Amino acid sequence: MSESRDSIIIGAGIIGSATALALARKGWRPLVVDSLPASGYGSTSASCAIIRPYYSTVDGSAIAYESHFYWKDWSGFLGFEDERGLARYVNCGCTVLKTEQNGQLAATMAIMDEIGAPYEELGPEALQGRLPVIDLNAFAPAKRPEDADFGAPNGQRISGAVFFPPGGYITDPQLAAHNLQRAAENAGAAFRFNSRVREIRRRDSRIAGVTLEDGTALDAPVVVNVAGPHSWKVNRLAGVEDGMKIRTRALRHEVAHVPSPAGFDFEHDGTVYSDSDVGAYCRPETGNYVLIGSEDPECDPREWVDPDDYNTEFTEQWRVMVMRLAQRFPELGIPGQTKGVVSLYDVTDDWIPIYDRSDLPGFYMAVGTSGNQFKNAPIAGEMMAELIAACEGGRDHDRDPVTFRLRHIGREVSIGFYSRRRAVNPDSSFSVLG
Ligand SMILES: Cc1cc2nc3c(=O)[nH]c(=O)nc-3n(C[C@H](O)[C@H](O)[C@H](O)COP(=O)(O)OP(=O)(O)OC[C@H]3O[C@@H](n4cnc5c(N)ncnc54)[C@H](O)[C@@H]3O)c2cc1C
Repeated sequence: MSESRDSIIIGAGIIGSATALALARKGWRPLVVDSLPASGYGSTSASCAIIRPYYSTVDGSAIAYESHFYWKDWSGFLGFEDERGLARYVNCGCTVLKTEQNGQLAATMAIMDEIGAPYEELGPEALQGRLPVIDLNAFAPAKRPEDADFGAPNGQRISGAVFFPPGGYITDPQLAAHNLQRAAENAGAAFRFNSRVREIRRRDSRIAGVTLEDGTALDAPVVVNVAGPHSWKVNRLAGVEDGMKIRTRALRHEVAHVPSPAGFDFEHDGTVYSDSDVGAYCRPETGNYVLIGSEDPECDPREWVDPDDYNTEFTEQWRVMVMRLAQRFPELGIPGQTKGVVSLYDVTDDWIPIYDRSDLPGFYMAVGTSGNQFKNAPIAGEMMAELIAACEGGRDHDRDPVTFRLRHIGREVSIGFYSRRRAVNPDSSFSVLG
């Protein structure tokens, strides 16, 4: 290695790039290595990039609400102009249906009250006023299309929804990662692409560095695993899995892009929309499209895959998601031609990420982002930098967890919440909702 680097980050996705920026701002000189040709080309590029404050836990919600303020002032946060321009935050808010599945959102509203996040309850008329194309029949539980009752109302009515103003989406998630890359480079980080890590080396029971596929050996006293859906493979290379109670694995997912329901301009008048009654979520997309994802209802099989060997073609999942949302928006057409993305989540046992050290001194991980951490990337990066600086300074984070200040909302969170040694969090939704 021709230049001296004090840390190596494996993965230049949104989280790896944010970690590089935060470390560089603390005076480190990280080198980010990625097997792909550019930053954000992994699962980040497929992200729906939805920003929303509601999670199933108080800490998860507080961090998500805080992230809204980072994205609102993206240019100020970066403090650097990217020659490709900046990713844009469309702050259209989020509408979540009150359903039996989410307990009419009572717990969610209690969490919002606790963290001081604004929201507005909408009765059926107000909801229909905002979304005139909506059908307020209830269809739960979500079903497979081969079920004879698919699409048949269950006799109940949707009682309303909650609107969350601090939310929306980022127009170009890959560009957001590139923005972070440029800001990190400006602060002293370096990026090396087309470089796959094939070996992780130790010396005297501490991390020593990594070796790339082409044989290049890169030495550094700190290595961070931010490899997205490949995280378990990188943890295995480092030999740290035995010290983890929570594990990660790759889950295949499809996202559908379809034209707006007839008679409604979803791009300009729509919001992020979550519907646990039919088991789907969606958001506006450029060109008056709707981008549809699955909320993983119980009736659907989960496709755990090898991140180096999985089906990248659309399957039945695509059509099922569109049909489910078409129950709610009857004017939504189901195109014959599939459009959207096929990608992978890096999922933990409780769908809450791991931002932590490992049992191998000098080896850290920001993994298991479970399809819901794009929004939190700037904060995840800063938490990782605090954690790494504290641990390298001699702090035992496992016994005495490092805390992190959410400066916009005036709260403190324990990074121990994301420990690799935690028990499975029973408050989790055990789904992409986190
Ligand atoms: C379909 C989909 C929809 C999503 N929607 C949302 C959403 O609406 N809101 C939200 O907040 N989150 C969402 N997410 C989640 C979010 O996008 C991810 O949590 C986030 O992008 C993960 O970023 P990352 O940097 O950890 O991983 P990645 O972007 O996957 O980056 C990991 C990088 O590591 C590299 N790598 C792996 N192994 C090696 C190796 N051995 N050597 C070198 N490099 C390696 C890869 O090439 C890759 O570039 C979604 C995810 C998906 C897939």
